Amino acid sequence: MKAALLQGIKDLQIRDIDIPEIGCSEILVKVKAATTCGTDLKIYQRGYIDGVIKMPTVFGHEWAGDIVEVGNGVTWLKKGMRIRAGNSSPCLRCFMCQRGNYNLCEDMMWLWGAYAEYIKVPARMVMLNTQVIPEHLTYEEAAVTEPLACVLRAVEKARMKLGDVIAIIGVGPIGLLHLLTVKKKGASKVIVSDTIDERLHFAEILGADETINAKQEDTVEKTKKLTGGYGADVVIEAIGMPATWEQALRMVRKGGTVLEFGGCLPGTEIKVNTEQLHYGETTILGAFHTTPAYFRKALNLIASGAIPVKPLITRKMKLDNINEAFETLITSKRDIKISIQP
Ligand SMILES: [Zn+2]
Ligand SMILES: [Zn+2]
Repeated sequence: MKAALLQGIKDLQIRDIDIPEIGCSEILVKVKAATTCGTDLKIYQRGYIDGVIKMPTVFGHEWAGDIVEVGNGVTWLKKGMRIRAGNSSPCLRCFMCQRGNYNLCEDMMWLWGAYAEYIKVPARMVMLNTQVIPEHLTYEEAAVTEPLACVLRAVEKARMKLGDVIAIIGVGPIGLLHLLTVKKKGASKVIVSDTIDERLHFAEILGADETINAKQEDTVEKTKKLTGGYGADVVIEAIGMPATWEQALRMVRKGGTVLEFGGCLPGTEIKVNTEQLHYGETTILGAFHTTPAYFRKALNLIASGAIPVKPLITRKMKLDNINEAFETLITSKRDIKISIQP
């Protein structure tokens, strides 16, 4: 089968590899769509993430497809079913899992290899993180379950309330999913900032109430101005840079919450003003990945139309052109997610 192998930084090659063989309790799926993700782009540009991926590797983790083979012992799935699965399954046994922190599992199983004709879903993932796709959903939409699951968990962790004013820094694919989610959860005003006008315009179409071009305006000042001088109830950083992590702290009101969502490079640090934490009672939250329950929630919200993810898929491309797809994502101002079709 054809598969995209990441050999090194910006070195993605289409290779002919064996179709995975499945064993007991596993399934084999023909990939119908695999969507590109900010994480993929980061790995493509910067290299591996410790403990999560090591090169050379098969690549891609947001996908959906048709079951072509079902291993012994799998009773609830049948050949021909449309499913999505992965990209993670906690072990349920480790210290973290036993405390309910499934996203922090110390023996997390990750599934890569969606940019390929076929993908094998291991037993643990069949059991914990595989869902049948409702008939009316496209494969592309179902593939977006994974990033949305991460966003849902983070927004719930931030305990956003009905009527809150939310500021989102960065409106790439993840920032836009945050936008759709907080709008649905009843934000009274969503202020988004970015440096690309095309993206800000797109965010407006998806429901952003106020936009700030961070190149032309002072994001902190403008956010204060738009919130009666107070700052937002919840600020969401969706870029992953120490500078914007710090900026988020200056955009939140007293007693508000900062959700530092974007992952920064290893070893980086930010400065926090102790007065702000003490007298300002700022809550600072980190958020990493998600849990199986949120994958199910995310798929249900996409299926019900409550969180419409279709507009985020701005282009479809063949697996053979995957390098072009990533280069497009790096240079394009309009593309959000590309659906790769093996
Ligand atoms: Zn992803
Ligand atoms: Zn675990």
